[in-house]
Amino acid sequence: MTATVLVVAALYVLAEGSLFHLEVRGHALSVSLSDLALVVGLFLLPPHWLLVARLAPAVVLFVVRRTALVKAVFNLGLFTAEIGVAFTLLQVLAPDRGLGVGTWLATYLTVAVVDLLGGFAVVLAMRLLGSAVPRRDVVPMIGAVVVSGFLSTTLALMAIVVLDTSVAGLLLLAALAAVVAVAHHAYYRLLRRHQDLNRLFAFTQTVGAARDADGVIANLLDHARELLNAESAVLRLLPGLGGTATDSDPLLSEPHPRLIPRGSRDPLERQWLARNGLRDALLVPVRDETHVVAVLQVGNRLGAAGTFTRDDLKLLQTLVAHVEVLWHNGRLVDQLRHDATHDALTGLGNRTLFNDGLQALIDGGGHGATLLLDLDRFKEVNDALGHPVGDVLLEKVAARLLDHVPTGSQVARLGGDEFAVLLRGLTSPEEALATARAARAALTGAFEVTGTFLEVGVSVGVAMVPADGEDAATVLRRADLAMYEAKRTGAGVVRYSPVLDHRSTGLLELAGELRSAVEQDQIVMYFQPKESLRTGRIVGFEALARWMHPERGVVMPEVFVPLSEQTGLVGLLGEAAASQALEQCRTWLSRRPGVGVAVNLSPRRLLEPGLAASLDRLLAEHEVPAELLTLEITESTVMADPDAAVRAMHQLRDLGVRLSVDDFGTGYSSLNYLHRLPVQEVKIDKSFVLPMHRDVGATAIVRSIVELAHTLELTVVAEGVENEPTRQALVELGCDVGQGYGLAYPMPPEDVQDWLVRHDATRRDRRAGGRPRAV
Ligand code: C2E
Ligand code: CA
Ligand code: CA
Repeated sequence: MTATVLVVAALYVLAEGSLFHLEVRGHALSVSLSDLALVVGLFLLPPHWLLVARLAPAVVLFVVRRTALVKAVFNLGLFTAEIGVAFTLLQVLAPDRGLGVGTWLATYLTVAVVDLLGGFAVVLAMRLLGSAVPRRDVVPMIGAVVVSGFLSTTLALMAIVVLDTSVAGLLLLAALAAVVAVAHHAYYRLLRRHQDLNRLFAFTQTVGAARDADGVIANLLDHARELLNAESAVLRLLPGLGGTATDSDPLLSEPHPRLIPRGSRDPLERQWLARNGLRDALLVPVRDETHVVAVLQVGNRLGAAGTFTRDDLKLLQTLVAHVEVLWHNGRLVDQLRHDATHDALTGLGNRTLFNDGLQALIDGGGHGATLLLDLDRFKEVNDALGHPVGDVLLEKVAARLLDHVPTGSQVARLGGDEFAVLLRGLTSPEEALATARAARAALTGAFEVTGTFLEVGVSVGVAMVPADGEDAATVLRRADLAMYEAKRTGAGVVRYSPVLDHRSTGLLELAGELRSAVEQDQIVMYFQPKESLRTGRIVGFEALARWMHPERGVVMPEVFVPLSEQTGLVGLLGEAAASQALEQCRTWLSRRPGVGVAVNLSPRRLLEPGLAASLDRLLAEHEVPAELLTLEITESTVMADPDAAVRAMHQLRDLGVRLSVDDFGTGYSSLNYLHRLPVQEVKIDKSFVLPMHRDVGATAIVRSIVELAHTLELTVVAEGVENEPTRQALVELGCDVGQGYGLAYPMPPEDVQDWLVRHDATRRDRRAGGRPRAV
């Protein structure tokens, strides 16, 4: 009898151990092992001895752990009630305690009832104490309690049955129990990770939507506490920012995160814990611009079991990265707003800003004119002398144009070599034409660019407000038609007239030519390399389409890909692009196994029914292993119809190809979607990467995307890597792959092999020079 009491008591003690804890917001519910003890006790002990075996170890533990009195009393009361209910119920259902099926069922029922009552009592008590369990946690919690109750009851019944025949049989049972325990443990870890992820996403979402810093900080602290199951979370400002607490605190002024586990042996850490009255802690510095401004301190891991781990520290760093973004938000929002409406090269307004100005003029019932200017030989200059010269020329054209239009005019660069001028308050078309001729004359004079004199012609289209359109888009389109007419006839300046609507010019003309262009192989793929930021090796190429137009020169994809969507040629174009890309990939295979190719899927194409079949056929035709093909799908394509997109993506995944979310970060809603997408890769949009070398806000965004993606075990690619400092910063953030002009411009396929050879040589040189490229 004494031995049985001791065994049952020992089981109860073990139940308090870490292995069998389910933690909900820091309150540990002991499950399974205590059920085991309960069942064994119910069968082998009279009720008062069972009660002793239950309460005695609990009292000792409460004293040792200095549990708060109210919690101890509550728990002792609860334990007593549980045993009372269990005993009475089993007595009614199976008074003889025979070892048949009927008794087993009675026992299962008894344990389930007791566990549920216990669970509800705890939830109720927590609610009374002001820390309610969130509703979404209650159902999984009940589920877990019932499942583990069932498991332990089964074990206990087996033990009793085995005991009836052979004591040694218990050893076999113990072995089985050990296996179950390990599986049980793994399951709870998984459950915990899943909860962490959900909470992280919830947090990202609130930060994304938040507008003021105070709310976000309160939110951050709440989330940090909840996520890490900790008693306290505080943001400690460093001196100079109104903080005092950290003077002469060596740990708080460190620039790197620190994990201080319970029972740390480091004397400095022990001292620090004692001084701050904590058992364990996590410290993560928060940076503003360049300095550490504060430290996020999370202390006292709750729950009887465990202390903080490296994983917890990483989780906290991710939270902090999001907050750092917000720290710069004010500045960032202004910057983004400016960037969104201005052309980075010339500083002029862009198409959006121009449209807004034009629409405002129309809406206000004003009068005016729109001039649309397009340089005549810009493409040739650019091709012959290179982009840098082309860029300087555009800057000079912009400056001269500004000088030669009436004050108060709005000047914009619409893209490429296209400019627009809005003349306000002007009513006569003659006056508009005269201004256009003057501007044209001014731009026709030579420009000096690095010692060379360059001449470019310019053609101007003119459309009047309100005569030539009721909305900005119409006015601009008509100015565009007039401009093409000016170019086509060599007239220089032309005003819009309705006859032009019936001539296919400009975009319309291009759209008409697209089909034959595809058929005559005028669309060719260029290839831009992607390198591993860890090793410097080339991991693949992105295929980018170019239209080699016999008259217009190179037409860029941003012009003709949308046209293909409007004219129903997406499939044709997409198929041609994928086919060329795979053909090249095949030629690299022999010399460079493993170098893959990425193709862009246009929005319409993703949802086309025959897509998977077509790709499958092309892969077979070109004999390229599916895993070497990556399909880049823009975030906006996914978000336009997430359910349909996810379905289509699963079909593509079934082929074995890789999927990548392109232009990631441009819409924050996708953060919440990312974990549901069957993708292997995230491509950070270049608008975040380009400003990295001058803007820490951008860096903070990139850091949080990298961390988020790594949490989901995705590969992170940064596009738009133009210079070495950016590349270095990306290496430090742990970004996996880089792509950009800094490494190479997109190149025609025939250049790829030579480029790879040269790239290898520079890699070797750098290595030999002892300068490590990657960390
Ligand atoms: P994307 O997929 O975001 O492609 C990257 C674009 O960034 C390319 O422009 C590339 O030349 C440019 N880029 C690369 N490195 C740098 C850099 O360091 N700095 C800067 N500022 N830009 C860089 P591209 O070739 O003009 O393509 C524009 C867009 O057209 C692509 O954007 C893609 O969405 C689309 N596109 C290109 N080829 C295809 C295609 O075959 N099919 C479809 N559906 N879309 C395509
Ligand atoms: Ca792309
Ligand atoms: Ca992109």
